Amino acid sequence: MARYTGPVCRLCRREGQKLYLKGDKCFLDKCPVSRRNYPPGQHGQGRRIKLSSYGMQLREKQKARRHYGVSESKMRKYFAMADRMQGITGENLLKILELRLDNVVYRLGLAESRAEARQLVTHGHIKVNGNKVDIASYLTSAGDTIEIKEKSKNSPKFKQLAERHQGNVKQWLQVNVEKMQGSIVSEPTREDIDLALEEHLIVELYSK
Ligand code: SF4
Repeated sequence: MARYTGPVCRLCRREGQKLYLKGDKCFLDKCPVSRRNYPPGQHGQGRRIKLSSYGMQLREKQKARRHYGVSESKMRKYFAMADRMQGITGENLLKILELRLDNVVYRLGLAESRAEARQLVTHGHIKVNGNKVDIASYLTSAGDTIEIKEKSKNSPKFKQLAERHQGNVKQWLQVNVEKMQGSIVSEPTREDIDLALEEHLIVELYSK
């Protein structure tokens, strides 16, 4: 299925919660979810239909897909991986999604959104453990070092990074803004993942 290229704020409004797809705008009052918290479209303000259990499972899965920007086929592949791992399948699934290279670049603050992080990766600006990696879905692991390619560091985009970077990253990551690099200290736990999501519903959906 083709990637969605429409206005991303519609996706948040469809799910009724912030999915943080737009960078800084997501934290401001002008976020459409704060101003118009009803589904988009002509009938968005109409009668709310109570969701079936399948409907609830579907919505949770779509939320996760949209938040991380992954396709349905990739999501199924990640579920199969999570199912084979030890531990709680839902948490494993979220851990895999968090460890995608585009997500790690975003979490390190090297990009303003996951979409921008994906572009940085596919355009070849990112190195993992010293080697260029241009696959956004590349799965990183604890101990990996992620940095901006030397040649790219002089671009205006990255020169502004030091000014706008807040310096605070998730506990499982470490960042050195001056050097424009970061590392994965440990794998993320469920507590590190701030998306309000009932991942067990995704497991139920894919287990049918
Ligand atoms: Fe748009 Fe971000 Fe608000 Fe979602 S959270 S509606 S992407 S501004």
